Amino acid sequence: MKTFIQLWKRKIKRITANVGIIEPIHGSFKEIEFETTTYCNRKCEYCPDSKFERVGAEDGRYMKEEVFEKLLKDLSVMGFKGMIAPHLYGEPLTDPRLVDWMARIRKILPHAIIKIVTNGDYLNENKYTELINAGADYFCVSKHSPELPQGVVSILNKLNEREQLKKMRILDYYEDYRNKQAMLNTRGGDIHLKKKLKHPVCCQYVLYPVVNTFGDVILCCNDFHSRYVSGNIMDRPLLEIWQDPKNINLRTRIYKGRFDLPICQNCWL
Ligand code: SF4
Ligand code: SF4
Repeated sequence: MKTFIQLWKRKIKRITANVGIIEPIHGSFKEIEFETTTYCNRKCEYCPDSKFERVGAEDGRYMKEEVFEKLLKDLSVMGFKGMIAPHLYGEPLTDPRLVDWMARIRKILPHAIIKIVTNGDYLNENKYTELINAGADYFCVSKHSPELPQGVVSILNKLNEREQLKKMRILDYYEDYRNKQAMLNTRGGDIHLKKKLKHPVCCQYVLYPVVNTFGDVILCCNDFHSRYVSGNIMDRPLLEIWQDPKNINLRTRIYKGRFDLPICQNCWL
């Protein structure tokens, strides 16, 4: 019964997207991800980091200061008030500039929501306090081992229930990978999963930009290899790249379930 309802939901979503009842592609965006560093200390089996070098070249490991400045400028011009997350496939807490950069985001984008996505390995009470004081709104901690890192446990112990709900979200990928695999996807073909998979319907990943360390606006967070770049923010403003007719056309087609690109053809959620 559940599967039947889910099938119908997918069908209805697809129809409404195709007849244009839902049209979220044109216009601006409500969230953005950017990668300050490509380095991650882990190599989780369900992550392309376990199979490939993120970028390879040493000069691409950290986003350059001028790229970050330009990103801030572009978002400031837009009066961006959405959610901003400094991560992609690198672990943001390995970047020594993180606290400073979050403080600068908070200053320039006072109404933005800053989300820190981390594996928690470098998180401890001090770092938590520094980042919260700098302006971070909350943390999404991905659990990739049987136990949470000790630093995360200490933070949770210090927070009351309400604060925990507000400031710390724990996503247990370790258990999920071993059981339902409900939170995982094939990362555009880079990862093999055992669960029964489906192509995305009304792909939500084309609704927000993802910027890599070089300032390239890539297709989506599954574009690990940065193969599909719609522009670089050092050449053009982010919003202009986002609203370029070619980019809109590509994202519209994906949203409607027309998967022209190999990465989308191999994308199963
Ligand atoms: S911690 Fe996150 S980014 Fe790092 S390898 Fe694991 S899933 Fe990938
Ligand atoms: S369908 Fe394409 S755009 Fe959407 S998540 Fe998959 S790879 Fe990314």
